[in-house]
Amino acid sequence: MRAEIISVGNELILGNILNTNTFYITKKLTEIGIDVLYHTSVKDDMQMLENVINIALNRADLLIFTGGLGPTYDDMTKEIVSKTLGLKLIIDEELKESIENYFKKNNRTMTSNNIKQAYIPEGAKYLPNDIGTAPGIFIEHNEKTLVLLPGPPKEMKMMFDKYVVPLIKQDFIIIERTIKTIDIGESQVESILKDIITKNKDVYIATYAKDGIVDIKIVAKGKNQDKIEELLNKTIKEIESKISDYIYSYEDENIEEVVFRMLKENNMKIAFCESCTGGLITSKFTRIPGVSEVFDRAYITYSNISKVEDLNVSKKTLEKYGAVSEETALEMAHGLLNKTNVDIALSVTGIAGPSGGSEEKPVGLVYIGICTKNCSRVIKSMFSGDRISIQNRAYLKAFNELRKFILNH
Ligand code: AMP
Ligand code: MG
Repeated sequence: MRAEIISVGNELILGNILNTNTFYITKKLTEIGIDVLYHTSVKDDMQMLENVINIALNRADLLIFTGGLGPTYDDMTKEIVSKTLGLKLIIDEELKESIENYFKKNNRTMTSNNIKQAYIPEGAKYLPNDIGTAPGIFIEHNEKTLVLLPGPPKEMKMMFDKYVVPLIKQDFIIIERTIKTIDIGESQVESILKDIITKNKDVYIATYAKDGIVDIKIVAKGKNQDKIEELLNKTIKEIESKISDYIYSYEDENIEEVVFRMLKENNMKIAFCESCTGGLITSKFTRIPGVSEVFDRAYITYSNISKVEDLNVSKKTLEKYGAVSEETALEMAHGLLNKTNVDIALSVTGIAGPSGGSEEKPVGLVYIGICTKNCSRVIKSMFSGDRISIQNRAYLKAFNELRKFILNH
């Protein structure tokens, strides 16, 4: 079923309020397997609203309106919808009584324009409003379904969840899975997975990129739970076979949480020494509850002298290769390991910019050192973007390299 959500109200178009109704309804419809194709917002204007309804009737099967159901002259959704569909508005006695009761119960006087709310298009059902006066309306007409809901979010949500969902819910089961990837761009993910994405109509695959992480969402729907699970597992295996190096989790979790879990499972302790990330790695890591089980300490060794004093990096190394070099990253990690009793030490040194770069060592150059008693390695990276993005990428890369290192050793 193809759905369109139509929000009615000047206040939305003028930028006075945020259209949270559309966000809410879209989320809920997607959860029950209805494809939302269009979001439309329109002013409280008869002609514009009529045009919008005609367009929507041409391209969607389910039209959900919010707003414009109140008692005042500018509320006209019900009237224009009826006019456009060629339906008469007739008074519903039961509804009239319930509106009258609402006013009695709340000790409010009913005005003549409240009676306007007791009219519904012929053949339609009204949806009770348990917390306000404007009833909702449910119309099935010429194989189209039109649902009219009040604008106030509280009333809209209550009515949508309680009365609309049971009426439109389809006989479907929907299961969603997430694959978290790192160190790979969204367009690269998409082009690698293109065949899988377009192959199966019962599986919907989409990518979402945010702050250096690309989430792959896989949604399958159908009538049989086992079949959907099977289809999902098969799709995930296919995706895995193409980009396994970049997948860090199948749960909704951060890369540092994965590293924490691995350290815990292997009974390992860790320490960090950070230069260009200035404590970001430590800060992210120490947000995890229970991290003291694996985390020993961290140094922020920003200056050359601090690298010498705190980590025993040799002055000669700094003079010969510079603070941002493979050699320094390695000596930092070694120094940290020797100083502490940890199993694994991580160092980061780089140029976050915007100044301080050179042709030989440009802004964005970052070295990550990882060291244990038996082995060590240094990873060289080049990141682009501003200072904050470079620091962020360095933090993600550091944890991803730790993840791979622990996995392989
Ligand atoms: P109405 O039913 O048009 O009288 O709307 C009443 C109130 O509901 C408006 O003044 C807004 O504060 C709120 N409202 C209407 N539409 C929306 C929407 N799409 N998202 C959030 N709030 C809304
Ligand atoms: Mg309005």
